[in-house]
Amino acid sequence: MSAELVCFNPGCPERFPIDAVLYECPRCGRLLEARYDFAPLKPAALTAMWDGRLLSREPLDVSGVWRFRDLLPFLGDTKHIVTLQEGNTPLLDAPGAAAYARLDHIQFKHQGYNPSASFKDNGMTAGIAQARALGMKRVACVSTGNTSASMAAYAAAGGLQAVIFLPYGKIAYGKLAQALEYGALTIQVEANFDQILALVRRLAEELGIYLLNSINPFRIEGQKTIAIEMLDQRGWQVPDWLVLPGGNLGNVSALGKGLRELKEVGVIDRLPKLAVVQAAGAAPFFHLFQSGTGGAIQNVENPETLATAIRIGAPVSWEKALREVQSSGGVVESVTEQEIADAKAIIGRSGIGCEPASAASLAGARKLCSRGVIAEDADVVGVLTGHLLKDPDYVYRYHTGRIETPGGDRLTSTLGNQPVVMPNDPGKIAEFLLTRA
Ligand SMILES: *Cc1c(COP(=O)(O)O)cnc(C)c1O
Repeated sequence: MSAELVCFNPGCPERFPIDAVLYECPRCGRLLEARYDFAPLKPAALTAMWDGRLLSREPLDVSGVWRFRDLLPFLGDTKHIVTLQEGNTPLLDAPGAAAYARLDHIQFKHQGYNPSASFKDNGMTAGIAQARALGMKRVACVSTGNTSASMAAYAAAGGLQAVIFLPYGKIAYGKLAQALEYGALTIQVEANFDQILALVRRLAEELGIYLLNSINPFRIEGQKTIAIEMLDQRGWQVPDWLVLPGGNLGNVSALGKGLRELKEVGVIDRLPKLAVVQAAGAAPFFHLFQSGTGGAIQNVENPETLATAIRIGAPVSWEKALREVQSSGGVVESVTEQEIADAKAIIGRSGIGCEPASAASLAGARKLCSRGVIAEDADVVGVLTGHLLKDPDYVYRYHTGRIETPGGDRLTSTLGNQPVVMPNDPGKIAEFLLTRA
């Protein structure tokens, strides 16, 4: 099947071979996307083949990304693929969370069940495969944490050296711990994400290191399978809304592309509306959407949020994301630190749990429902992007009433669950338990 890299800007005719080492169009500077000729694919045969692979024990069939490889045929040879059994994440009903959002029903696609515990694994297996196909020896990324954890894991498994760049002091411990354990060369830079990305783009070019940030079009290819797997789990029943957090906006672009392509091949006949949720202190995409979508995005100079995975002021994929949100008839919302914290605790109380950025999905769904944008009886799927244990420090502070915004304002621990210290005295403990029955 033909595969090429195309400038996603509809007005630009540039096309490149699929093995070009490019992250943006040399002509107009926009991002590139992989494009294929899907005409030979027949929807019924395709979904039957995907079903058939569920019975297979072949590593590529067992992967929740590569099971759908027919829609990401960018590799000449699948021997380059490194799989850690990514994907295969559950779609969970959460009645408590639905009640909190005043929705009849919500399901969560929980990407925290991935091997490195975030959705970055879906993209990274594809990005690392392309790095190996290109004969690269070193890969690099700048990360608020999860990209580095994921890249470190896949690079280690695939025999590549991982170089990761992190904003000094602004990373959740679970994520840093992963990068160190997986053996990545880890450089903490005293600058914010956006500044470091500019730096690393220069270095990658000078030193011939393959860049695996979400500007890399192959990561987007892997991540689009999140939408495909979710719809497969729903028997191809398209929800009304798909709600997800937005930072660099690569994931919105990826899910939008996956849905668009499923429609193109005829597996689904309509698109869900995409609702992107940003943290109020790092919400350039929300402001763009509010001010009418004709202009360019105004970057946020000093993005601030405790949801470090979405602490991004200059989202690189904003144009792609805008196109996907608009063509789906979707919206962009922003939520406060308090709204994120409480939504997160509600997801925890559902027995599910997630990291702070993920909870923006529920906080956003609640807000959109209260504003009447999402109908109470709508069929809603939220994406939980990362695992609860990614950021244990946040969790502990919230539950012990010690959580503050980056600006120093104390948040209310609405659903705080403080551990209780008791003497070694069965009588006292029994008495206490009676008061809590
Ligand atoms: C990366 C990440 C996001 C943001 O995704 P973008 O593609 O940058 O918009 C949200 N949540 C978690 C947990 C992440 O790791």
